[in-house]
Formats: sequence, structure tokens, C-alpha cells
Amino acid sequence: MIPLHYEQDKDREEAYLKEIKKGRDKAYLKDIDDKCIRYLGLPFDTVVLLPPDGLMNIQKEYGRKSEKERETIRKEFRSIGKTENQYMEHILYGTMPSAARKIIFDTAKVKTCPYCNRNFIQMVEAKGAEEGEQEEKYKSFFELDHFLDKDTYPMFSVSLYNLIPVCPSCNRVKSTQKFEYYPYDSANGSDDLRFHYVIMGEDFLKDESLIKIELEKRSPEMTRSIDGLYLEKLYEGHKDLVQEIAGKVRFFGDDYLKSVCSQFPDLFRDVEEAYRILYGNYYEAADFPKRPLSKFTRDIYEDSVEGGAIR
Ligand SMILES: [Zn+2]
Repeated sequence: MIPLHYEQDKDREEAYLKEIKKGRDKAYLKDIDDKCIRYLGLPFDTVVLLPPDGLMNIQKEYGRKSEKERETIRKEFRSIGKTENQYMEHILYGTMPSAARKIIFDTAKVKTCPYCNRNFIQMVEAKGAEEGEQEEKYKSFFELDHFLDKDTYPMFSVSLYNLIPVCPSCNRVKSTQKFEYYPYDSANGSDDLRFHYVIMGEDFLKDESLIKIELEKRSPEMTRSIDGLYLEKLYEGHKDLVQEIAGKVRFFGDDYLKSVCSQFPDLFRDVEEAYRILYGNYYEAADFPKRPLSKFTRDIYEDSVEGGAIR
């Protein structure tokens, strides 16, 4: 789980609103706006651009309503457009222009899936539409997860900070599960999840069955989200990386990074850069979204430098 950082960008938000509404039926948009004001006390534009804490607050308020009230509101939002058409989910979200998806992707500022940090996610310019296809500006190599699922919260179907670009595997596995670990929550830290390994024998560099990978989760919210995504089991598949990292640390010694920096000041700007070249990944938490397995690599490295633990 890689936290996402919220940074308000008014121009980007305005552009997102414009894309969402482009070419849409004005009467339906007016209907949505009326319902947003009536049931949430906010105009539609505000609901679409609710910042992360605003989105969480309004979700809490909504949760305090009675089940009956929530069901009525849900029906009201789902009946916009022709009855049962679910305009917000099927049209506004379902046929969202790729330019709007691009803004969501740029807002998250990630190159890897923030849920698993195992797969790259990307967006590229489209090569042009084939005959019979709709012209789209960009092609996305990721899926969008509705953090607050669109069945329960149809009103947040296109809310910018409710849409998390994730890899198709995580999106499929998460499906409609409700997560409590919200990637945009400002209280998140890069160490909310920490990877460790324990070794059951000295031969672990040759025999990966002697390695056990453990995930230390800092909150029950994190634990439930990790379980929901099968991350514990998935990371068991990366024991070969533990062997490589621990092997390098053993071969080079704990102080190797510092010593190459002082020996080759022209080649390595700092220890972090030396680490990147040697271990093939980023060291700083701010750079974790740039490459798969970055967090795992750093945690395993730090465990190895301290000597790991023999059990
Ligand atoms: Zn993923």
C-alpha cells in the first residue's frame, strides 16, 4: 500500500469537471445537481471535486443517516436519466472520456499500483481510432477503483478523489469489498505497512523455502485491506528478491554504499543514488510510486543491513 498525496490544483480540477460534463444531457446534469443539493447539501461540482478529507467527512455524515434514508437517496441517484439507466454510474462514469481518466491518473502521481506496488500502471497517447471505434485521446493501462463503491455510493461515481488508478489484478480482487485504508488519507505514512523476513536456516540464500516473509501492519484498517488484496500471499512469491538483496548486503558488507560514495563522488551523488544503482530501486518514500516492489526492496534491505533474524 503506497499512500497518495493530495495537492490541490485548481486548473486540473476545473479541467476534470469540464471533461466530465462535456456533451452530457443538461437536464440530467441539472437533476444530479438538484439531488446533490437536496441530499448532501452541496452542488454537484463540489461533490465531484471534494478533497480527500471532505469526501471522508461527507461519507461519515451519510453513514449516520438511517438505512431507510440511505436506500431512498441511493435510489434517487440511481434513477437519474431514464429509470434504471443509472446515469451517473453507466454514462457519466461508464463512458468517461479518456482525457478525464488522464486527469485522475495525473492527480494520483503514480507509476505503479498504489494497492500492491507490484505492477506498473500507465497512460499513453492513443494511436488513433480504428473504423467504428470511438476516437479516444489516451489509452489507459490501469483500471479505476471506486474507493467508496458505486453501488452503495452512486453519488460519488465520478468524484475525483474517490477514483484510484490501480492495476487490473487488484481491481478484480478488491471488487466491491469496502476498504478502510484510504490511499489519499493525509494521516497515512509510508511505514503503515512494513515488510520483514525471517530465516529458518543459514542456507537461505540457496534455498528459499528457508525464508518467511512477514507483513507488519500498523493499523486494523491496513490489516483488513491487505487481507482483502491477498498481499501477504502474493509477496510470498518474491522470496527470490530477498535472496538477491540479502546476498548483496552479505557480499558487499553493511557500509558498502557509503564507501562507494566517498570513493566515486562523481558517479554517485549520495547514498540513495548508490542504493538505486546497486539494488535497482528507489530508496526515498516519496519515490516509491515510481517503481514496482520499491517499498519491499527497501524494507528487505534495511532488515538485511541489521543482520536479519534467524529463527
Ligand atoms: Zn495492484
